[in-house]
Amino acid sequence: HAELVIIGAGQAAVTLAETLRRDGDTRSILIIGEESFPPYQRPPLSKAYLSGGMPQERLWLKPVDWYARSDIGLMTGARVTAIDRGGACVVLQDGQTIGYDTLVLATGSRPRPFPAALGGALRGVHLIRGIEDIGHLAGALDRARRIAVIGGGYIGLEAAAVMRKRGLAVTVLEAGPRILARVACDKTADMVRALHRAQGVELHEGVGVSALLEGADGALGHVQLDDGRVIAADLAIVGIGALANDALARACGLACREEAGGGVLVDGLCRSSDPRIHAIGDVAAFMLQGQVARLESVQNACDQARALAQTLAGVENPYMPVPWFWSDQYDMKLQIAGLNTGADQTIFRAGKRAGTGSVWYFRKGRFIAIDALSDPRAYMTGKRWLEQGAMLSADRVADPGCDLLAPAM
Ligand code: FAD
Repeated sequence: HAELVIIGAGQAAVTLAETLRRDGDTRSILIIGEESFPPYQRPPLSKAYLSGGMPQERLWLKPVDWYARSDIGLMTGARVTAIDRGGACVVLQDGQTIGYDTLVLATGSRPRPFPAALGGALRGVHLIRGIEDIGHLAGALDRARRIAVIGGGYIGLEAAAVMRKRGLAVTVLEAGPRILARVACDKTADMVRALHRAQGVELHEGVGVSALLEGADGALGHVQLDDGRVIAADLAIVGIGALANDALARACGLACREEAGGGVLVDGLCRSSDPRIHAIGDVAAFMLQGQVARLESVQNACDQARALAQTLAGVENPYMPVPWFWSDQYDMKLQIAGLNTGADQTIFRAGKRAGTGSVWYFRKGRFIAIDALSDPRAYMTGKRWLEQGAMLSADRVADPGCDLLAPAM
């Protein structure tokens, strides 16, 4: 039994435990994670770690002895298979049960798989979520020549950049009308597309993959597109979105979001439909600017964990994020702050160097989000304006001579 049991040993879990201890919370805490590694950060998996330029230990969120020193129980290689709400306990794969007073779901999300019936289970088809995936991929890359990246979201594009840097032939296939459709506007997508093409990536948009076809040796050999074309590929990286790991919550009857990607429904205080169970990070679905959303970012995992720490301390301070996010591709750093949903006006401001700049999004005259391409100054300025909620007029942003110094903090 532990007073606080956290299922999932990732970014959100560690931040919650750390914040509670820092704030002097003395209750017993147990983090249960199914992976066999110490809790680690995922962003480098599609960037520096994938390129082989980063030792594994640098992924760990905390030194391995930090948990014991902080009086935080950590079980790795332990999968929770059920939640018994009546008995207030969780059941592990080996049959062990662990009681809780408060339970937190921090189980993250998993990549949406390419359907196995269409070739998704062929050797040579890879997903990127965990350290083990990179291990498999690294082994396969030594033999690969032609890479198909399925999905033009940030993970696919980051992987494409790493593959190109290794000198491999890379084709990116995006079924939607354009890359980065979920996160960025046309202008940003245009600049990112131009960058990839300049680096020699073949990039096709508005064309879906209808099947992955077996080659001569029983592994992937070709990718069939829905316009009838067939392209050769001996390795595919699938990056077509993520699904919340909400199966435990569904099985024990907690309210979950039905639509795209699922998620455990929580209120602003991170409470699920059971007052003793909370959810944070990628798995949590909550009201954000008038719609139920999940955010898949380090910022959200950390900030929501800190918000829950307050809830657990009896402070009712609803979570209202200014989301931010980054992506590294080649030497370009894309930084995004705010949510651009519903934007009706975008303004581009050129940066100091060619190929750099920032896109400022407005909805009904209100500044709501910024994308910055290798323009950290613009990003910081825009992010401050968003955090302060101060009124920034589109006219000022549209004037290239106007210095947009953020309001005083
Ligand atoms: P996770 O960190 O995923 O941790 C959840 C853990 O729970 C996992 O280890 C999982 O195995 C475990 N678990 C699930 N079910 C069970 C169970 N039943 N029993 C026990 N354990 C279980 N975000 C950014 O902000 N910037 C980036 O550049 C960026 N790049 C990314 C690149 C990649 C390749 C990926 C995959 C993600 C990236 N993200 C990025 C997203 C970011 O990593 C996630 O939003 C963040 O890790 C979410 O934290 P979390 O704690 O909710 O989930």
